[in-house]
Amino acid sequence: MEITLKDAAARIRAGELVAFPTETVYGLGANALDAAAVAKIYEAKGRPATSPLIVHVASVSMASTLVAAWPPEAEALAQSFWPGPLTMVLPKKSHVPDIVTAGLPTVGVRMPEHPMALALIREAGVPIAAPSANRFTQLSPTTAEHVRETFGDAIPVLDGGPCRVGIESTVVSITAGKVALLRPGNISLDAISDALGRAPEEIAQAVAPSEGSSHSSPGMHERHYSPRTRLVLTNVPSEAGAYLFYAHAAKAARIFQLPNDPNEYAAHLYSALHELDREAWPVISVEPPPQTPEWAAVLDRLKRAAAK
Ligand code: AMP
Ligand code: MG
Repeated sequence: MEITLKDAAARIRAGELVAFPTETVYGLGANALDAAAVAKIYEAKGRPATSPLIVHVASVSMASTLVAAWPPEAEALAQSFWPGPLTMVLPKKSHVPDIVTAGLPTVGVRMPEHPMALALIREAGVPIAAPSANRFTQLSPTTAEHVRETFGDAIPVLDGGPCRVGIESTVVSITAGKVALLRPGNISLDAISDALGRAPEEIAQAVAPSEGSSHSSPGMHERHYSPRTRLVLTNVPSEAGAYLFYAHAAKAARIFQLPNDPNEYAAHLYSALHELDREAWPVISVEPPPQTPEWAAVLDRLKRAAAK
């Protein structure tokens, strides 16, 4: 069901869920200050209560209503990358409901750059908690159609076209002057270290937590971002399956080419996987991208998509 911006904002204020476009992926949003509304997100997604949500804001001043501290590192990163695909995890103010942060004392905040996302937050007048608008561990949606395939008419969708970035935001945490990369994304480690005037080695890179623990980052679940079809990273695809490549084709029943630029590749990755998933191949083989910094975010998503 498609809706207007005004209707979507009214639903957010009334404690209901709305799916909306951002430049990364489509989000499943609720009023971040309404615990009962946020509970509906977890229920719709089948998301475990241990996975905190990103809260979307329309300005730095709205972010400052949620965080207990705004250190110079946050200011520098917001200046460089907001609005944009960067989430910052900072100490939360006590009025941010625990359900939003999975009980953590920190909250993830992001100012998206998609005009429709910004307009929705402004019109609703409240920060919007939103994970991706898909079921837990599955492929993220990058079009309104992907959202409808999952939720049908149960969730109204604002249609803002295909997402520009196409993979989830870069996530950093900032604690006591220490900056750590929790999830790679379109904004690279190098770009972050440049903006901070620090060497990349000074930025910690998170390691995946053990299973069942409260996750420092839900993107850290080993299996995530996965199509229903089995996905393997290999240059030697099954001849009876689908092969997703960007540089070198190989023999397969179905071959699908992605752009060889990492950002362009990311922008089309989930759409390609949604399409191949619908075709129900026995396996989707994916040509592994190189282990270089510019491919880090894509490689991260592909490894998680391939995890059992
Ligand atoms: P998604 O499921 O794509 O919405 O991802 C949510 C992301 O938010 C995760 O990857 C986390 O890194 C991040 N996040 C949100 N809140 C927190 C928090 N309080 N602490 C750590 N990470 C958080
Ligand atoms: Mg998600």
